[in-house]
Amino acid sequence: MGLKINREACIGCGVCVSTCPFGALALDEAEKAVVNEACTACGACVDACPTNALVLEVAEKTAPDLEVDAWRGVWVFAEQRAGKLQDVAFELLGEGRVLADRLGVELCAVLLGEKVKDLAPALFEHGADKVYLVDHPALAHYTAEPYAEAMTALIRRYKPEILLAGATSMGRGFIAKVAIQVGTGLTADCTGLDIDPEKRLLLQTRPAFGGNIMACIICPDHRPQMATVRPKVFKQPEPEPGRTGELIVEALDVPPAKVRVLEMVNTMQNEVNVAGAEIIVTGGRGMGGAENFKLLRELADALGGAAVGASRAAVDAGWISSFHQVGQTGKTVRPKVYIACGVSGQIQHLVGMNSSDTIIAINKDPDAPIFNVADVGIVGDLFQIIPEIIRSLKS
Ligand SMILES: Cc1cc2nc3c(=O)[nH]c(=O)nc-3n(C[C@H](O)[C@H](O)[C@H](O)COP(=O)(O)OP(=O)(O)OC[C@H]3O[C@@H](n4cnc5c(N)ncnc54)[C@H](O)[C@@H]3O)c2cc1C
Repeated sequence: MGLKINREACIGCGVCVSTCPFGALALDEAEKAVVNEACTACGACVDACPTNALVLEVAEKTAPDLEVDAWRGVWVFAEQRAGKLQDVAFELLGEGRVLADRLGVELCAVLLGEKVKDLAPALFEHGADKVYLVDHPALAHYTAEPYAEAMTALIRRYKPEILLAGATSMGRGFIAKVAIQVGTGLTADCTGLDIDPEKRLLLQTRPAFGGNIMACIICPDHRPQMATVRPKVFKQPEPEPGRTGELIVEALDVPPAKVRVLEMVNTMQNEVNVAGAEIIVTGGRGMGGAENFKLLRELADALGGAAVGASRAAVDAGWISSFHQVGQTGKTVRPKVYIACGVSGQIQHLVGMNSSDTIIAINKDPDAPIFNVADVGIVGDLFQIIPEIIRSLKS
């Protein structure tokens, strides 16, 4: 598919140039539109052109290169670190169960690591019907290559129709490699999943064009349909104690990693991770400077150990590390209470926190968009309001 420009019909009005979200169009010396390699064939310019001078040429659809009906089952990558299953694995099992039931197929978890067999019962209790286990020394510490090799081998052998993984540093790190190795597509950072039961398609929703639209992406001709989902997008299912399933131990010949892990160092161990926190106090540009985050830390302490979050504006200003960023390019959070201080509430921030149970916003601008999602809105100067809250919490 590509963008074709009819130079005769082009009147050089420049509407397409200002419409293109990717800066892929310009006017040449003859005042005619020209397209560059940044074009993603999104079609925005085609709709905007007043003279129909732009056309998206769709390549003739080639026959699918595989028999999609031969692929069955929903798989979830059961991410574990240092022998501990990560919450995202359970969250994906919860959603995977819903998808598998809609398709009438099994839900399977893929467990990769060394000496991790004991983790399988928890996966059954959270909804897995089968667990594929590859227990191998090359998988003892996570590195992308052996993980990708093991997952690819399993996919080729068992042919799942859907594979879900967490959009974590681990999931993001090797799943794209798997997609390339098995010749399928991958939708990263989905915020919603559904099934078209008639066509057995996974409907993968994610923000697109800088978060301005929610795109629904499908993978009709290749399998598996692969998606990553950020932690906290889905709720963890209640475990069913004693629920069991089938454990399939795969003796794969996993090649050794090219990267050798010498030591694992957790430099963030003294930081409260916003991703899993029950209460988050977030500061935006309205905090006015790095030194003022002290006030937020004080509030977080007064709330009994809440985590401190930040908008991207605060992170970009260098006031706080990106570890704390909430939003589209930061973390997705789902705390019981989210307190946004001096955050305007742009869509890229909201997509990361609007599933919080209770949202409290403090902003001096009564028209700030954050108030549209807030359960409690306080209009005023945060430098007056936060000390008051701290004082009353302490007393
Ligand atoms: C592709 C892309 C990805 C992005 N990803 C993210 C992301 O992950 N996370 C994210 O946060 N942003 C993200 N952004 C940026 C986003 O669009 C906004 O620019 C950003 O969220 C704005 O941060 P802010 O609300 O802190 O700042 P501003 O929009 O500048 O808002 C500051 C607010 O503080 C208020 N204020 C000022 N002083 C006070 C005071 N004394 N008391 C009370 N209120 C006060 C103001 O009224 C204002 O509403 C992304 C943007 C793009 C294009």
